[in-house]
Amino acid sequence: MHDYKLGSIVMMKKDHPCGTNEFAIVRIGADIKIKCVKCGRCIMLSRIDFNKKIKKVIKL
Ligand SMILES: [Zn+2]
Repeated sequence: MHDYKLGSIVMMKKDHPCGTNEFAIVRIGADIKIKCVKCGRCIMLSRIDFNKKIKKVIKL
């Protein structure tokens, strides 16, 4: 289980189409919203999905 909070920078297993795999956590609720640090686009994931797709936390 990864330890993360609002504002954490995380590395996902899959790259965003823009070529980075680093995202900032911008919302934590029933779903988790992450924002690509390179292009600024947001992705919503369920917590289960997020926990499956996260590789590691870069900055807590
Ligand atoms: Zn991107």
